[in-house]
Amino acid sequence: MGDIIGIDLGTTNSCAAVVDNKGQVKLIPYKGGEYTIPSIYAVDDKGNELVGHEAKRQWQLNPRKTVYGAKRLIGQPFKGELVNKMGEYFAYEMKRGQEDNVLIGLGKTDFNLTQISSKILDKIRNVAADYLGKPISRAVVTVPAYFNDRQRQAVKEAGRMVNIDVVRIINEPTAAALAYGVQRNVNQTIAIFDLGGGTFDISVIEIRGKTFEVKATGGDIFLGGIDWDNAIIDYILEDFKTKNGIDLKGDPIAMQRIKDLAERSKIDLSVRAEAPFNIPFVTMTPEGEPLDIDLVITRQKVNELTQPLVDRAIRITTEVLKDAKVAVNKLDEILLVGGQTRWPAVQEAVTKFFGRPPSKHVNPDEAVGIGAAIFAHSLETDAVDQRIQLLDVLSRAIGIEDAAGNMFKIFDRNAPVPNAKAQLFTTAQDDQNEVIMRIYQGEQKKARENQQLGEFTFSGLRGGKAGSVKVEVLFDVSSEGILTMSAKDRDTGKEMKTTVKVESGDA
Ligand code: AMP
Repeated sequence: MGDIIGIDLGTTNSCAAVVDNKGQVKLIPYKGGEYTIPSIYAVDDKGNELVGHEAKRQWQLNPRKTVYGAKRLIGQPFKGELVNKMGEYFAYEMKRGQEDNVLIGLGKTDFNLTQISSKILDKIRNVAADYLGKPISRAVVTVPAYFNDRQRQAVKEAGRMVNIDVVRIINEPTAAALAYGVQRNVNQTIAIFDLGGGTFDISVIEIRGKTFEVKATGGDIFLGGIDWDNAIIDYILEDFKTKNGIDLKGDPIAMQRIKDLAERSKIDLSVRAEAPFNIPFVTMTPEGEPLDIDLVITRQKVNELTQPLVDRAIRITTEVLKDAKVAVNKLDEILLVGGQTRWPAVQEAVTKFFGRPPSKHVNPDEAVGIGAAIFAHSLETDAVDQRIQLLDVLSRAIGIEDAAGNMFKIFDRNAPVPNAKAQLFTTAQDDQNEVIMRIYQGEQKKARENQQLGEFTFSGLRGGKAGSVKVEVLFDVSSEGILTMSAKDRDTGKEMKTTVKVESGDA
């Protein structure tokens, strides 16, 4: 045993864990030290690949070819608002791929985001293999609960690219609940408030011994520590512009130095009230005089700048509790997960909302990786009574576009997974030989305002008058939240040929 690991593939940091022969969970250290590896990939000027700490160490000097935060862009259309906004802060080159996906230009080669994720997975696997002294080719990998079908598929594909069989994808808050609950053997209903580097998830989970049933989940894949950093960056840029009349936004080296210090100052300010923000020689005046950034930033200021982010997280939490039909005072514990929950204003807001302080039982940086390893181990065990039962849900509805362009929901949000539904369609024209269906995921009424998962074509329908051929389409969502579809002629039972066209994203 021990040859299957759990991987927390985070936006900013990743980590891996394993259950050893004695049944103990262990985080895998990198070179004897830290347990987390920065989710950063870079190519240096000699063309060498750098991943993790090595990539982070050189990111100020090589901002154009250092890729971080890539998980945030997975499955996002290039022309979308998010990619546009992130382009202002990320110094690396983003290009439009053929399917309107994001490509990252690194010298002579363009990488898609699945490839970048695969590099990070490969690094984590190699660190684990070195530490354990045996090859590793299988893993349970966690994703934000709020990831859609396409983003989940991209993670599986990233594993395949580097010969890692992603045996199962599980949701990050669910993994954290496993880390908390498996060894405690409790009957409790808990909330997991997970605010990491890039994403926010909130889940309500009922634990009954080894059964973990998600009651409801929600989140925002564009709400995380990066947004705190960006708020500080904007403030610094604005201040510099006012004082010196120079906009540093177009200067990648300056931006990278500001970004680096913004995050470090934020972390500093989580334990003190003010911190110097000092970058010497950040740029020069047109006359060649060096200019510095030199100010003091306070926690209070950062709180003012980021209050809308906290408010958003609490608003989503309110909705999820409503969906779960659990009253705040009926929760047994509140778990905080993700590095950004170390920010005092986040903890205060959570304490106020739930009317009590969060649990101290899990480490916010480690719980997800540990939970993934516990689940991986459980999949391997022969003892049936030791197996963990996970009953998870879909974080967002899946549906099709109807004739009026509206979303016709096949599965509601928070529908349990795995799940399957059949839907009957009749032909609209004489001798119609195919049915085309656009599938979307999201909560918007207009189908096209949701994320498109793909366009499915079912072909080979038998001829006949309009309305005479009935096609039964099966929508099948796996326990990992991944959709597959098939169709058959209802009267003859003949399977149709299914082809899928994906319009944007990376999967
Ligand atoms: P994770 O994705 O869980 O590794 O979370 C990483 C995020 O947590 C990054 O945005 C970090 O800047 C942030 N973070 C880590 N430590 C702290 C801290 N003490 N205060 C505020 N944010 C932190």
